[in-house]
Amino acid sequence: MNTAYLGLGSNLGNRLAFLRGGRDTLVNQPGIELIEASGVYETEAVGGPEGNPLFLNTVLKIQTSLEAKQLLKACLAVENEFGRSRPAIWAPRTLDIDILFYADQVICEKRLTIPHPRLQKRDFVLAPLMEIAPDFKHPLLGQTITELAAGSAGVAALTPLRTIW
Ligand code: ADP
Ligand code: MG
Repeated sequence: MNTAYLGLGSNLGNRLAFLRGGRDTLVNQPGIELIEASGVYETEAVGGPEGNPLFLNTVLKIQTSLEAKQLLKACLAVENEFGRSRPAIWAPRTLDIDILFYADQVICEKRLTIPHPRLQKRDFVLAPLMEIAPDFKHPLLGQTITELAAGSAGVAALTPLRTIW
């Protein structure tokens, strides 16, 4: 069994329903067990054209018997189940699921990069990770989530919605 952290995001349609649906579908699969979920954060879309709708973001801690590649396959299948299409890079998405960390593995392949290469720059990932994994050490950067978030005023400014999800 390995511990992994998944980042979920939605900025199209009933965003909270997509996060809930993604979480429940994932953790109902054999080989995936939910350990902890962060709160849900509402954030501006990073990059892309102005006026993109706001995101809801969250992070899940799971335990899994799936290898990283199998886990990616499962995540992409759940995205598809919830109607994710990819008309353009920055297009609003019903459900995006990214593998942030998989144990302390470092993977650099065409279709899979772990740790997720941009997570240390993203307030909407660091803020939820601060809730559930403040002491987790980034296997490449050698810094904990707390250390990675320390420099960011943006992370400190983000608070989860009061919604129970
Ligand atoms: P993004 O999440 O960067 O906006 P997409 O969700 O469209 O982009 O993902 C495109 C591809 O990214 C996926 O098909 C997958 O093969 C690849 N990918 C590489 N590393 C990861 C990762 N750590 N988690 C999820 N997808 C990844
Ligand atoms: Mg993605």
